Amino acid sequence: MAVLDQLTSQQAIDLENKYGAHNYHPLPVVLTRGEGVYVWDVEGKQYYDFLSAYSAVNQGHCHPKIVNAMVQQAQTLTLTSRAFYNDMLGKYEKFACEFFGFDKLLPMNTGAEAVETALKLCRKWAYEVKGIHENEAEIIVCENNFHGRTTTIISFSNDPVARKNFGPYTKGFIKIEYDNLVALEETLKNNPNVAGFLVEPIQGEAGVYVPSEGYLTKAKALCEQYNVLFIADEVQTGIARTGRLLATCGNCSCINKNCSSSPDVKPDVLILGKAISGGVYPVSAVLANDSVMNVIKPGNHGSTFGGNPVAAAVAIAALEVVRDEKLAENASVLGELFRAELNKYIKTSKIVNLVRGKGLLNAIVINEDEDSNTAWDICLALRDNGLLAKPTHGNIIRFAPPLVMTEEQLLDCVSIIIKTLKQFEK
Ligand SMILES: *Cc1c(COP(=O)(O)O)cnc(C)c1O
Repeated sequence: MAVLDQLTSQQAIDLENKYGAHNYHPLPVVLTRGEGVYVWDVEGKQYYDFLSAYSAVNQGHCHPKIVNAMVQQAQTLTLTSRAFYNDMLGKYEKFACEFFGFDKLLPMNTGAEAVETALKLCRKWAYEVKGIHENEAEIIVCENNFHGRTTTIISFSNDPVARKNFGPYTKGFIKIEYDNLVALEETLKNNPNVAGFLVEPIQGEAGVYVPSEGYLTKAKALCEQYNVLFIADEVQTGIARTGRLLATCGNCSCINKNCSSSPDVKPDVLILGKAISGGVYPVSAVLANDSVMNVIKPGNHGSTFGGNPVAAAVAIAALEVVRDEKLAENASVLGELFRAELNKYIKTSKIVNLVRGKGLLNAIVINEDEDSNTAWDICLALRDNGLLAKPTHGNIIRFAPPLVMTEEQLLDCVSIIIKTLKQFEK
């Protein structure tokens, strides 16, 4: 078979099975094209994308403005490494720092790399600014976290599938219950060597767990009280997904003046990835103010591709789209509508217990135990009915469409979802 021959779905799946490592278990659908909220499989069937590549494609598939920025830059200069300056990186850093209200940005490529960067930054700050003895810094993390797949990150995961037989694990992490301020305060009180608190504003992979109102604000205040860095992993929640520019940031000094949320929870260290590129290119970043970021000196950290001109051009365009198309506002309005519509159905449903989420990061909990196959089977039926979603656990399905969706499209999706769920009513 020639490389450019059009494959059938089965041929494409067979090739991946034979030649690819089996590190994922994809839903059986083979996509070949995407535009806005839609994707198409190789047989030409159209679907609503309700995963958005784990919230990387917030701006919709193949957004012309972002793709254009990438193509233009790719034809001009792609990679210099950081051995030399390039004329795009500084522009992007200024743009992103002003956009999110921080002094400095450290560019990386993937979410996991940005998390690793934040951990290194936090430790170095602890030794050089806070004055913790070398090698004794601890970072508090939350149970059921998801921060990526590197050896250090899985060291503080409690997902057995992600951890088993990948030891020995990296030390220096204390795990506490998510959404538990008492546990946080106790841990801070009893451990003078704590340097940072790493938290997801909403636990996405765990099943879209939204913490109690005020949790983040109070956690930040505790971190301040104990001189500990509040590190927000907004790789999934960031960039308008939850109905504001950042899930942690209400009226921060960002330029999104329209977000009218509760008082700011401004992280000391902000981790971004996924949608900072609109899903067209791997781009991630760590942002912090000078008092923290200035501990990083030449040679301490880096990446050959981090901060390359294509990434810089793409990220500027992707953030401009979020601002110009008011995606945070749209996610907020459509999210309310989505939960309201599903709640009407859930009142009488025997198969769904609840819907939860913020903005367009939502999940439904199926009336089954965690190791049932029902959520998977529902996702197969959703696929057959023209909508793609994926379980996060045996009984939880995440719903996270691109934020460029219209109200009409959303209501169409709601009717597909409810029609499908009704097929599973006993
Ligand atoms: C996806 C994700 C990551 C990891 O990003 P990769 O680009 O897959 O390495 C880290 N943190 C959170 C919260 C994520 O959702």
